[in-house]
Parts: sequence; C-alpha cells; structure tokens
Amino acid sequence: MRFLTPLLLLGMFLFFCGTASAQGPVIDGRADAQDLEIVLLRDEHGSTDGARMPANHPAPVSLAPRIMRVRSVGSTLASIVTEATVRSATFRQLAHAISQTNGIVYVEDGDCGHGVRACLATVTTAGANRIIRVRVDANTADWNLMGSIGHELQHAVEVLGSPIVTNTRALYLFYQHNGIRAGSVFETAAAVRAGNDVRAEVRRSMFLTQPR
Ligand SMILES: [Zn+2]
Repeated sequence: MRFLTPLLLLGMFLFFCGTASAQGPVIDGRADAQDLEIVLLRDEHGSTDGARMPANHPAPVSLAPRIMRVRSVGSTLASIVTEATVRSATFRQLAHAISQTNGIVYVEDGDCGHGVRACLATVTTAGANRIIRVRVDANTADWNLMGSIGHELQHAVEVLGSPIVTNTRALYLFYQHNGIRAGSVFETAAAVRAGNDVRAEVRRSMFLTQPR
C-alpha cells in the first residue's frame, strides 16, 4: 500500500493543521513549566452551581482524584492554553470532551516537519490512559496558535472516540479510513472547522477586550 512506507510505520504520521503561517510575537509566560488543567469546570456530579442546593444539603464532594486531561508543556504554551480557554467557547467544549475520555493530551512546542505548523504526533498508552502528543510551532500570532491547538484538540477528540486507537500505527489507520488525504498528511473537516471557530472567537474576544 502506498501509505505504508517504513517511515510512516515508524510513527512519523502527521496530521496537519491547515493554519496560516502568520508570524508574530509569542507571549512570555511568567510561570515555571507546568501542566495545566483547562477543563473539569464541573464537579463530578455535573453541577457548577452550589447555590441552588438547599441550605441544609451539603454540596457533593467527590473523593475521586481529578486527572488533568489537557496538559501544556512550557510556560508559553500554558499561557496560550489558559487564554484560549477564557476566550473561546469552542476551545472549552473541546477540552471538556477530552475530559470525558481516558485520553491525556500533551501540547508541546516542536517541529512537525512536512511544512506543517501543528500535528497530532503520537498515541501511546500508560496504564488505563491513552497519551496523545500534540506538537505545535509556537512562533506565530497568539490567536493563530490558539486556533492550531484547538484544531489538534478536535483531532484528539476524534481519536479518543475510537477505543481501538492505542498506538501511532492505529492512529494512522484510523485516519486512513476517516480522514481526507492532503499530500502526505490527513485532515478532517471537523478539525478545520474547530480551528477556524477558535480563531474567530479569540479574535472577537481580543477586539472586545482591547483597551479603547
Ligand atoms: Zn488537521
């Protein structure tokens, strides 16, 4: 099969983001490198509004440990992910969808090659969890970077919806059946739409909150 080259089978499957290549400054993060929880806005019972509970009814407290399902590597990306979570409803929805799965998504700065700025690079397993690594080129405008990450989070949602995708080879096969080939990479309409929606929401939010 044309796709099953040795290189691809070694895990170099790239699922690209069709993002613009606008160059721009990158936010300087202030915190140390850290994982960042961007989801789990609700408690384990799905409630976010304890005030609706009767006064004599204590708010439910879950003893289950919370697992951060979307994690950024590095302070710059931590700041970007935090800002995207605040500015974009689509971004929040994607993060929430991931929080309902057994996936843990790492967003890290790096080069995808193949002329693309972001990619869903690998899938591995760690115990009961599936680990997805998203790689992005952080050297672009903030709003565009947020869109690229949102685009890849949509791919993560797609992959996590298929329990049989537990390694990078299965990832490749999944997109061979469910993606649209674009050169040496794959794409989905949903990911393109998600990335564009995040970009639009972030830019609108930036416009509304900029100093006048
Ligand atoms: Zn894509």
